[in-house]
Amino acid sequence: MPLPWLEPLQQQLAQSYSQHRFHHAQLFNGDKGVGKQRLVEQLADGLLCASANNLVACGHCKSCLLNQAGTHPDKRVVKVDGQTIGVDEIRDITDFINHSAAQNGNKVVVLEQCHKMTTAAANALLKTLEEPSLRRYLLLTCEQIAQLPATILSRCAVHEVKVNIETTTQWLASLDIPNYSWLGLFSQQPLLVEQWQNEQQLESIDTLYKFATEIKDSHNFSALVDILNKDTSLVNVFTLFLTEHLKTQLVLGMDFFSYQKAQSAISEFIYNSSHVLGLNMPLAISKLAFSLRESHN
Ligand SMILES: [Zn+2]
Repeated sequence: MPLPWLEPLQQQLAQSYSQHRFHHAQLFNGDKGVGKQRLVEQLADGLLCASANNLVACGHCKSCLLNQAGTHPDKRVVKVDGQTIGVDEIRDITDFINHSAAQNGNKVVVLEQCHKMTTAAANALLKTLEEPSLRRYLLLTCEQIAQLPATILSRCAVHEVKVNIETTTQWLASLDIPNYSWLGLFSQQPLLVEQWQNEQQLESIDTLYKFATEIKDSHNFSALVDILNKDTSLVNVFTLFLTEHLKTQLVLGMDFFSYQKAQSAISEFIYNSSHVLGLNMPLAISKLAFSLRESHN
C-alpha cells in the first residue's frame, strides 16, 4: 500500500512513465522518516513488474515474486554500511547497469542516502548519469541535498518528498499510539514514529521528553544515560526536545541572553556526542544540565 501522503508524487511519476517522459535518474530528497525508502522500493517493484498498473506492482507475476524473495536479478540496492559510499560501490552499479537484463525488461538500481558518496564515488556516478542506457533506472534517496555536487543534481529529476500534515496526522492516529504530547513534533517524519512503535521504543522517547522538559529539576540521569548509550541516534531526539522546550521558555519570558547561553550548551552537547570518541555520557549530561540550570536562574 502506498503511503497516503506520497500518492500525489507516485501518480505524477506513473504519468510521466506512461508518457515516456520518466527520467532515467530520479532523486528523492527529504527528512528521515518521510517515506523516501518505501517510495523507491515501490517504484523499483513497479518498474520491474510485468503487469504493473500505474507503476504499482501487481504482486504476483514472476518479477514480483522474485522481488518479494529479495532475489530479483535486475534489481540492485545499495545501502550505506559505514559512513560513506565509496567508488567501488558505484563501479558495481555501473557494471550491473551495463549488463543485459535477466528478465529481458527494465533494470533498476536503488542508491540510498547518496549524499554520503565520496567525491570519487560522485565522479564515478556522474559518468553513468551522463550516458543513460535504455530501460535502466537509477532511484536515489538523499537527506542532505546541499552535500551533493551540482553536476549530479543537474542530471537527475529531483523531487522533494514532503508530508501533508493533515494526512500524516490521520495516519499516525491510525497507528494506535498513546497521545504523547511530543507526537506533533514528528508529523513530518511519520515513519520514524512507526519505527519506534515497532521497536517498542515509544516509552524511551517519552522518557527523553520528560528529562528534556524537567532537566533543571533532575539530579539522577541514569535512565537518560541508559537510553542514549543504547542508541546514540536518539541524541538528536533528546536535543530536539530540549530546543523545543527552550523556545517555550523564551515565549514565557526567558531573557534572550539566557536563551542563547542555553542554546549554545545544547549545541556543544550535540557536537560532542557526534565528534568525541568514547564520550563520557553521564559527565556530558551533568555538564549540560548544569549549564541549563544556570541559564534558568
Ligand atoms: Zn508483477
